[in-house]
Amino acid sequence: MPPKWLADCGRKVDMRLGIDLDGVVANFILGWMTRYNMEFGTHLNEEMVEHWDAAGDLTHFTDMAAFWDWAGAAGGGPTVFRDLIPYPGALSTLNELAANHDIVILSMKPDWAASDTFAWIAEHHIPTREIHLIRDKWRVQCDVYLDDSPAALAALVEHRPEAIVCRYIRPWNDPVIGVRDIRDWAEFCSFIKEEECVWSQTA
Ligand SMILES: [Mg+2]
Repeated sequence: MPPKWLADCGRKVDMRLGIDLDGVVANFILGWMTRYNMEFGTHLNEEMVEHWDAAGDLTHFTDMAAFWDWAGAAGGGPTVFRDLIPYPGALSTLNELAANHDIVILSMKPDWAASDTFAWIAEHHIPTREIHLIRDKWRVQCDVYLDDSPAALAALVEHRPEAIVCRYIRPWNDPVIGVRDIRDWAEFCSFIKEEECVWSQTA
C-alpha cells in the first residue's frame, strides 16, 4: 500500500520543510565508527564525539582529508554513506509530516557520496520528491529548516531571516541566536503541528 502522502492526491501542502540528513536523519557517526572499528580493531563509540569533525582527533588519520578518502572507500565499493542507520523516530516522523508538507532533503555531500546517498534515500523510502546535495542550503527556499551543522545553521539564519531555523541539538553544536532548539523527532513533530495552526491562520 502506498504511503499516505502519495496516495492522497488531495494532500494539502502547507510548508516546505528543509531537512538535513547526516546527524539529523542518518546516524553518520555510528556509521563511520562501526566501519572503522571493524577495520582497525578499535572501540570508538558515539559518546566520544564532542565537536564537529571529531573524526580528525579520534582516528589515526592525519587530517580530515585522509578520513574522507577512507570514508569514500577510495573509489572501490560502497562509501560509508551507503549503510547508515536512521535515528529513532526520524522516518516515522518524516512520513507523518509528509502527509501535509513537502519534505525537501538538503544535504552537504562530496561528489563521490551522491549515488550512495540517493540509494540510501530510496532504500529507506524517505518521503520526498526534492533532494538537494548542496553546501549553501540557504539557496533552497524552505519555510522551516532542520540541521545540526553549526556552519549551516549560521548561514541559514543570515540568509533566510524569514524562515524558521531549527537546530537538532547534538554534542557538536551550540545554541544560535534566532534558532529554535529541537531535542528529538517527537519534539520536531509537535513543533511543526503547532506551526501548522499558525500557518493556516495567516496563509
Ligand atoms: Mg548534518
